[in-house]
Amino acid sequence: MNTPQDDSPRLLNFRATSFLISAAKISQCPDDSGGEVAFAGRSNAGKSSAINCLTGNKKLARTSKTPGRTQLLNFFSLSEDCRLVDLPGYGFAKVPEKIKRDWNRLMENYLKYRQSLRGLILLMDCRHPLQPFDQQMLAWAMAAQMPTHILLTKSDKMKKGPAKANLLAVSSEIEVYGGLVSVQLFSAEKNIGLSELTETLNFWLTT
Ligand code: GDP
Repeated sequence: MNTPQDDSPRLLNFRATSFLISAAKISQCPDDSGGEVAFAGRSNAGKSSAINCLTGNKKLARTSKTPGRTQLLNFFSLSEDCRLVDLPGYGFAKVPEKIKRDWNRLMENYLKYRQSLRGLILLMDCRHPLQPFDQQMLAWAMAAQMPTHILLTKSDKMKKGPAKANLLAVSSEIEVYGGLVSVQLFSAEKNIGLSELTETLNFWLTT
């Protein structure tokens, strides 16, 4: 007989996240089983801060941010069969063409072929969202029919009215993708929007 607990969703404990492995190419990624959610964004969008805020671990996403260095996908274990993935930052101005091409291929293939990928968290500074690199990432995600949730980061840096206006502007731009793309305001500094983010992750990874 079912008890009430049997019906309640299995919520993830983000505080239990631990580093798993780094991969420079798809073949180095962990087994493509279970579920994972990837985080992407231009460099400086606030990706490390968001992952640290979510997991309560300031050291977790301290990755190398020097342009041109080896770009790695960093995998974190959430539970036995759930992972978070920190995708290499993009948008460095001075990256050599070959590194840009390699990065493009890696991102496109990862979004297209990773079976365990349940969704993409796409981070953008709320003061200037949907830059060309963001549009490119969104286009690859949509080509792969990948659910995408946009975090408009550093929302504490804007007054409420203008922040809301930017949220509405992005909401109306993504309407064209139907229900596949959603958006929210977020601040790692002030914990704004953290519960909305965890709800999305729980939904993708546990249902
Ligand atoms: P990443 O390159 O995308 O990993 O970006 P970081 O997380 O390193 O953040 C880039 C800069 O923005 C750092 O100086 C952070 O302190 C700052 N930052 C990140 N999130 C927030 C936020 O929510 N509010 C404010 N005010 N600053 C933030």
